[in-house]
Amino acid sequence: MAERKAKIICTLGPASAGHPVLFSLIRNGMDVARLNFSHGDHEGHRKAIELVREGTAHYKRPVAILQDLQGLKIRTGRVRGGSVPLEKGSRVLLMPGKGIGDHTRIYINCPDLLKNARKGDMISLDDGLIQLEVRSKGRDSLKTEVVEGGILKDRKGVNLPFSTEAPSFTDKDAADLTFGLAMEVDYAALSFVRSAEDIERVEHWLRKRKRRIPLIAKIERAEALANIEEILDKADGIMIARGDLGLDLPAEEIPLIQKKLISLSNRRGKLVITATQMLESMTGHNTPTRAEATDVANAVLDGSDALMLSAETASGKYPVEALAMMSRIIKYTEREAPAQSSGFGFPEVRSSLPVIPERAATFENALFSGAIADAACRAAEDIRARFVVACTDSGFTARLVSKFRPRMPIIAFTPEPRTLNRMCLYWGVQPRLMPPPTGTDRMIREVERLLVEEGLVKKGERVVITASAPLLGSGRTNLLKLQRIGEDRGK
Ligand code: PEP
Repeated sequence: MAERKAKIICTLGPASAGHPVLFSLIRNGMDVARLNFSHGDHEGHRKAIELVREGTAHYKRPVAILQDLQGLKIRTGRVRGGSVPLEKGSRVLLMPGKGIGDHTRIYINCPDLLKNARKGDMISLDDGLIQLEVRSKGRDSLKTEVVEGGILKDRKGVNLPFSTEAPSFTDKDAADLTFGLAMEVDYAALSFVRSAEDIERVEHWLRKRKRRIPLIAKIERAEALANIEEILDKADGIMIARGDLGLDLPAEEIPLIQKKLISLSNRRGKLVITATQMLESMTGHNTPTRAEATDVANAVLDGSDALMLSAETASGKYPVEALAMMSRIIKYTEREAPAQSSGFGFPEVRSSLPVIPERAATFENALFSGAIADAACRAAEDIRARFVVACTDSGFTARLVSKFRPRMPIIAFTPEPRTLNRMCLYWGVQPRLMPPPTGTDRMIREVERLLVEEGLVKKGERVVITASAPLLGSGRTNLLKLQRIGEDRGK
């Protein structure tokens, strides 16, 4: 069976968090369920998580759970009567803090609003619908003129073209992450990350609680782009959150930024998710526009590990159809353009391996693991192997193999249920559980037995197996076995 290689993340929401839609999403190939903690309460999220787990057990198909934390979303405060008209050409004061605003003054939850603002800066409210230009800076407010008017309602998003200092990991995020860890979510995504410090702050918080969870930095502020190398060093991966990023930057810059971020992430062996409005029109129609289909295909060709559906699955009319459509576009693109989407697509990974730090505890571990992952993909090509097999404890080896984009699927065996789920996000990786191995030869026989039992290989077919000796847990992949099915037992 030709499996899709790029993975699909579905955001759960009112249209999909319940039975039977959620079960349909699992059956139709959802790899990762995203819970958006900007909406809903813990009870609702708990029910959704429990239902995902029930569905994965039912269909015997792992699905990772990604907890997307709200972060410091800068918003306007409440306004008198719930909505006020802001007319083009009128003057409006922007004030840091809480309070009830009106058509002359608007409060914004950003303590250092005044610090870096300059005359001429454009500030957008309500996802860019209303535009204000800074005219001057007073002692306790910014004096602005309305350039693009509209009706402003309570608590709308604000995009500032300058940096702010308030930490992006809020008290609400800490409470939500405590809940997420208790529910054993597989990934946490941090919103509005500006620099590596934002990630370090969360790592420190986790260390104090003796916990670790892979962190995905959402790139949705222009500031993050200036610090992208350090962010990539710290995070396990990034999400190109084109919705908010597209409000911080002119639309024409987004396509090339997307390509650059994907390429940088792949070079550093980090996960990269392309997100937002991919099949937006499917929130209301059962087919996408051709431009949207092209966007999905391009995100695959650019080298994304995963593509994300947001409103399409969270609140749209056609959640299952949107997933099925995205899956079809990805499969077609991967089949018809294999040279671009696989087959040593990222040779630069090899030269960057020494800078892949986490998981591999030492420089040498990273070097060994990278060399084996690279060699495994080359050998698989040379011997025309059916699969590259990665036996892995933390998932590190599988992720490295995935970054070399082999033409054949990667079957990743792990004795760790948490690793099994996390690998659902890795490009080209089909995760499987295996019993804890007790010796190298026995492990290789076990891999062969599991592959045959599942009908994935036939006698005489070849596979390439990577692992570590001593087995698992060493963080150093150092073993490469070229295996002909049935050969070692003389059958
Ligand atoms: C985005 O802005 O593109 C995004 C993914 O973030 P959110 O959906 O949390 O606003």
